[in-house]
Amino acid sequence: MENPFKESPLQKLEDELLTQKEITLYFKRDDLIHEHVQGNKWRKLKYNLYEARLNKQNTLLTFGGPYSNHIYATAAAAKLFHFKAIGIIRGEEPVVKSETLLFAEAQGMELYYMDREMYRQKDDPMNIESLRVQIGDFYYIPEGGTNVYAVEGAEEIIEELNVPFDYVCTPCGTGGTLAGLVAGLRGEKQAIGFSSLKGDDTLTANVNALVKAYTGVEFSNFSINFDYHFGGYAKVKPELIQFIKDFKQQHNIQLEPVYTGKMFYGLFDLIAKDYFTKGSSIVTLHTGGLQGLSGYKEHFI
Ligand SMILES: *Cc1c(COP(=O)(O)O)cnc(C)c1O
Repeated sequence: MENPFKESPLQKLEDELLTQKEITLYFKRDDLIHEHVQGNKWRKLKYNLYEARLNKQNTLLTFGGPYSNHIYATAAAAKLFHFKAIGIIRGEEPVVKSETLLFAEAQGMELYYMDREMYRQKDDPMNIESLRVQIGDFYYIPEGGTNVYAVEGAEEIIEELNVPFDYVCTPCGTGGTLAGLVAGLRGEKQAIGFSSLKGDDTLTANVNALVKAYTGVEFSNFSINFDYHFGGYAKVKPELIQFIKDFKQQHNIQLEPVYTGKMFYGLFDLIAKDYFTKGSSIVTLHTGGLQGLSGYKEHFI
């Protein structure tokens, strides 16, 4: 099969603030990998799909909310690689489906809805087994695609970087992508995650556990910043929306408000506050997720 994926270029960003603070900023454009299977969601799916094939599983089952980038990407990847896909969606079946869910269905993903209470227990092995009894056998991919195979995929981002750098930054949800970066760095340089969710210690613990599961060791050369969640997951504020619009106008690069917009807002704020020493070189990751803009139309028209 012809490789449907494009390379992810590394671009240098030009900005007055960067010049003034003598910071070099590169942008790793994982959003350009594929129209639908883009960003960190492809990085995290890649070795899960290999693993499913290896285990002769033809059905993928995964979880997500009604606007989930992971559901969207998994549905598209399943179609591309001829897997059957099942998506278990948090909450009741909506009267009006999100564009994300409509897209997933159009790709052939079968959707089931799970009430929020049950959804909170979804990863319990007993519940996964009971799904197998109900639906038949499947390859299980956790919510957000985050597991040890996701770490293996995200690690490849580091291998692709061909410039000198001091820091690598990513937005954080489950921490799977950050774990991949930390694994790839092998103790050198610094990784910074910008959490899209309100702070809690489980995120750092998750990253440590994932890194350890994949590499066999833990590394301390990473931190997670919890100062730029804008009220919590998927919450926005006018200054964030304005920042995304200005960024688009200046750099001709689209960010989205759930992850990449918050990270860049935070990163520029830290640069303005001299968090980084002069002469630092920073790589940031565009983790994609642009389909998520469909949930924020009223802000961007
Ligand atoms: C899912 C997602 C993230 C969060 O990645 P984790 O590996 O869960 O931390 C970041 N950015 C975008 C665009 C995403 O879709």
